[in-house]
Amino acid sequence: MSIPTEPIGSIPRPPSLIRAVAACQANEIDDAALEQEFTKALRETIERLEETGSPVITDGEQTKPSFATYALAGLTNLTSDGVVIPFADGHTRQLPRLAASPFRYGMHAARYVEAARSYTQRPVKQAVISASAMSLLYPSQGIRGYSREAFLSDLVAEAAEDIRGALNAGAASVQIDFTEARLSLKLDPSGSLLRSFVALNNRVLEGFTSEERLRIGVHVCPGGDHDSTHSADIDYTTLLPDLFQMNVGRFYLQMASEPDRKRVLGTIKELIGPSHLVFIGVTDPINPAVETAEQVRDRVLEVAAVLPVAQFGTTDDCGFAPFADDISTARETAFSKIRARVEGTAMAARELGL
Ligand SMILES: [Zn+2]
Repeated sequence: MSIPTEPIGSIPRPPSLIRAVAACQANEIDDAALEQEFTKALRETIERLEETGSPVITDGEQTKPSFATYALAGLTNLTSDGVVIPFADGHTRQLPRLAASPFRYGMHAARYVEAARSYTQRPVKQAVISASAMSLLYPSQGIRGYSREAFLSDLVAEAAEDIRGALNAGAASVQIDFTEARLSLKLDPSGSLLRSFVALNNRVLEGFTSEERLRIGVHVCPGGDHDSTHSADIDYTTLLPDLFQMNVGRFYLQMASEPDRKRVLGTIKELIGPSHLVFIGVTDPINPAVETAEQVRDRVLEVAAVLPVAQFGTTDDCGFAPFADDISTARETAFSKIRARVEGTAMAARELGL
């Protein structure tokens, strides 16, 4: 037996791809030329991931504009003045706003799974955006003739289709990116916004069998963009009880960057159910220092002292570049950290006699 280990999703895009995206936006190159760059980056990213020894592959999100906005590709009923997310270093990211009905995804994740699977024989994991994040597109003042309830039922159907399509396309697992979970406690410390997010995501999960839910997971973190976070100051242990109400089989939890990991692991131990598999972050994409395999091993042994060995795996704390234009982490650093995670996890498994 070994300890499962998986990436979160994104890998920094090659500089040539970032330049090509900008050039295409400026009409300096055409869509076909950009498509070539996408294909090149995707193929190279998968090769490099395989070289790290990673038993599970992602597409590195090479062709996503961001983990949150891929589903909005090509939509014409959006304006740019949506919700603003402030990060600790002062920079912000702004979501679009839905201006007219109906709400449909312009892109579904199945396309990414199909593309990735054409370059690898290994199991492919696919990340999808949470319905709760997409719910932020609906303006607080409403849309005439399109009630919030009508919007939410369209959204639930689209988000379910995103997961269903990825599973049908052969994804080994699907991870719902729920990075606004911890942020929601900053916006509403009472937790009622968080609970409404969890309830909405559970509406999406209702259509899946318990078998299928074992292949569906959720990722939370304090945000990660330009090496900064949006909600690291929120106590993790206030998030976890509500998070574990989500009807998924897998949890992908940031942990390497937590100041008091033992305390958080103790909370997870209280909450973990018999059918749960919890992936604990053992590398920190925001910290430029590359972890050694020995450091990772020690972090895994720290987890093994608290959680049942058959119920945990390892992961990175977050994606390495959730937004395509984020060049704060070098590609080489990402692959080195992943290699350390894979090797350190195997070292710990040997030490535990697995
Ligand atoms: Zn994350």
